[in-house]
Amino acid sequence: MPNLTHEDILSLLRGVVDPERNQDVVTLGMISGIQVRDGHVAFTIEVDPARAGQYEPLRKRCEEAVFGAPGVLSATAVLTAQGGARPEASKAPPNAPKAPNTSKAPAAQAAPGGGSQKTGIPGVRAIMAVASGKGGVGKSTTAVNLAMALKKMGLGVGLLDADVYGPSLPRMMGLSGRPDSADGKIIEPKVAYGVPCMSIGFMVEDDTPMIWRGPMVMGAVEQLLRDVRWGELDVLIIDMPPGTGDAQLTIAQRVPLAGALIVSTPQDVALSDVRKGLNMFRKVEVPVFGIVENMSYFLCPRCGERTEIFGHGGARQTAAELGADFLGEIPLHLAIRETSDAGTPIVVVQPDSAHAKAYLALAERVAEKLEESLDALAAAAPKIIVE
Ligand code: ADP
Repeated sequence: MPNLTHEDILSLLRGVVDPERNQDVVTLGMISGIQVRDGHVAFTIEVDPARAGQYEPLRKRCEEAVFGAPGVLSATAVLTAQGGARPEASKAPPNAPKAPNTSKAPAAQAAPGGGSQKTGIPGVRAIMAVASGKGGVGKSTTAVNLAMALKKMGLGVGLLDADVYGPSLPRMMGLSGRPDSADGKIIEPKVAYGVPCMSIGFMVEDDTPMIWRGPMVMGAVEQLLRDVRWGELDVLIIDMPPGTGDAQLTIAQRVPLAGALIVSTPQDVALSDVRKGLNMFRKVEVPVFGIVENMSYFLCPRCGERTEIFGHGGARQTAAELGADFLGEIPLHLAIRETSDAGTPIVVVQPDSAHAKAYLALAERVAEKLEESLDALAAAAPKIIVE
């Protein structure tokens, strides 16, 4: 099968029978979104949200059926639920019991712009996104160091790498290997520096090219959100995929976000992307906590001189124009690159450095914004009046 076609994939999948309904997955109309590129195959399996917990074996069999064929180098199947419902692999039902600590549970249960589809994660007080209008601006570096700084402030923090196109959390947190799961359903996060972490990068080989369509990204993110034992957290930080396409919009729409932080570099091109990012979150009524300017200026490691390579200050100006808060600036510095690429975030290993302090200052602003957002949610929640 040298040149795989969609029809080839469908005929392979016709051999997989859904045991509940005794028909093959293709005849049942469960397969969609087939992507084939250079022998790498990806597709979605539409499932009935009412049959929670039953589809994982079927998903695996679909992958195996395709992977076994000549010419197929990799096969990735993602479960999604039709009609905008959550994918099947998500275990928490919409009326999932709240976490024992009720003061922590409700925040993520009803987020701004929320609809009935936005179900919080029991035990997680708030979920926030770190986003960027384009790749390479330091979004992941910011997410990781922000998490470390919030942790340092005493908050319970988790990190979810939703950047399925280029997951960098494992490298930046010095983590590798597949996560454990005792029952094959709930995944244990990997923990670094006291912060539970989950990334699609733990699940796939480094050299596997990612072919993801919007709905598949959401399916994967839902699984990483809900099938992981996050425990009790004040905030779960999602490192978003870069950009403002369908996949990002769906996450912004469907995950109960308390707010979003947008990372930008000072250049004009990045700033026009900031506008798109800001508008995306506003469209779905997710509060934008503000904008942070990364690689804001160059601090010479030898003489300490500050050079504004990209014409510093653009993000502050754009934030003002767009009515968003400017939350701080992070210098461009070799130590930030080296520590983040070595899996030892600068906030942890050089806590007294000027760079770590820049992240701590950012974290303080973010913590304030989180509290404001949670207060606004609590105020907006319906009150029960007993006469
Ligand atoms: P993104 O998530 O936006 O794609 P990353 O966080 O992966 O970007 O950063 C891209 C590269 O830039 C990485 O090698 C990272 O170490 C480096 N980097 C990010 N922020 C800084 C900074 N402030 N100073 C120096 N290097 C940085």
